[in-house]
Amino acid sequence: MGFFLFLLFFFSPVQRRGAISYDSSDQTALYIRMLGACVVFKQLFANVRVRSQVGFEPERRSSHPYLCIDFRTLHTRLGCGSTSASSDPERRVHRLLSFQRYLHSSRLLRGVPQQIPLHILDEDYTGQARCMLEKVGNWNFDIFLFDRLTNGNSLITLTFHLLNQYGLVELFQLDMVKLWRFLVMVQEDYHSDNPYHNAVHAADVTQAMYCYLREPMLAKSLTSKDILLGLLAAATHDLDHPGVNQPFLIKTDHYLATLYRNTSVLENHHWKSAVGLLRETGLFSHLPAEDRLNMERDLGSLILATDISRQNDYLSRFRLHLDQENLCMSTASHRHFVLQMALKCADICNPCRPWELSKQWSEKVTEEFFQQGDIEKKHKLEVSPLCDREMNTVGNIQIGFMTYVAEPLFAEWARFCDTRLSQTMLGHMGLNKASWGGLQQEPAPVSEEAQPSTACADTGDAATAPSDGSTATTAGGTSSKEIPQGSRES
Ligand SMILES: [Zn+2]
Repeated sequence: MGFFLFLLFFFSPVQRRGAISYDSSDQTALYIRMLGACVVFKQLFANVRVRSQVGFEPERRSSHPYLCIDFRTLHTRLGCGSTSASSDPERRVHRLLSFQRYLHSSRLLRGVPQQIPLHILDEDYTGQARCMLEKVGNWNFDIFLFDRLTNGNSLITLTFHLLNQYGLVELFQLDMVKLWRFLVMVQEDYHSDNPYHNAVHAADVTQAMYCYLREPMLAKSLTSKDILLGLLAAATHDLDHPGVNQPFLIKTDHYLATLYRNTSVLENHHWKSAVGLLRETGLFSHLPAEDRLNMERDLGSLILATDISRQNDYLSRFRLHLDQENLCMSTASHRHFVLQMALKCADICNPCRPWELSKQWSEKVTEEFFQQGDIEKKHKLEVSPLCDREMNTVGNIQIGFMTYVAEPLFAEWARFCDTRLSQTMLGHMGLNKASWGGLQQEPAPVSEEAQPSTACADTGDAATAPSDGSTATTAGGTSSKEIPQGSRES
């Protein structure tokens, strides 16, 4: 209940002035942006936070012709208009913004009015959102509806609720205001104009992660720290995703590809962005430095595991453990590995959701692929596998993805967690695959392009995994093609 009062405080129209008068001007700016007002946006730029000040290696933003995004470092001046001792050239600082925050700010600077949602969250909506949260552990949880009921704040609301529900805020003595601010910034750093890799996807993955954390195999052995990390990793795992995949960043010489040496480029960026926000908000600043660094490292290890081009490494290790029955959940490293696998499952669980939800995700991810393809065509670049809207359909991409990526993973997960949920997921996947097959105009051969082994042969990365624009290869013979329960194909 407490968090809903908190929620009302920030979202309720009658309380808006309360939010604006919040005593930290820096946070004021953030909350105001969250509320859709732009009158004091200048405050945002006047209160410069430089990530390098906290020892975090800043990423250099540069412009690139293909992304229609100008990544130039935003210059601003501290103490503008002030006559105090501001002549110090040090006061001219470079504000490093995430892609998403730069887009927001550049629109504001150009005088383009920010789109203010037409509907304002009222108590009725809040009540319905609260009702939904009572069933947050249900596999058929409709995150799209929840996002509407929370006025587009599903990621903040859901994560805040789950952290509270587990008692993690108290246990880790998290400052409520810092936590809220952290979650607001996380949500804002997702690109709302990405069809797929946006904050709703992050909220969906967080909800799925919660379902897995409740599975008996995990629930009885995970520590509070494991749970905190699992939820935070889920919420931040695609932070500041640009809506294009790694091969695109490499072939356009994007600075992130150079920075991370063409390896797990996006995942490294998501992780570093998350660490940047943790440090910027000081969420863990009360913890001993060693604990803080360990948390950041473990968060990275979880997020990096979502690089689907490394799917086979993880899957082989998982399979070996299961074959040898030697996963020992009292061992920290084994628990961490299970968390990695859980996050990987959560990240690509779309095909395992009920059809009405799964279908929407499939259409969104395909649209993001196709938009990348459109950009590639426009700039006369080779169109990436699965990104050509003339050559692919949602159905053939989905069938390929399920066959080569999702089914092998969830089959192993069901060996590990032999529960109703894992069987339900396999059942949905079978039904969804059959439905896509039925929707194909012709008897649905899996397009050659949809087969990961050919699609990414020369990129070394993945271009076929719908959830992340990348794929797992089938090179180690990824195995088990048991017909999932409930499949109409059987
Ligand atoms: Zn993801």
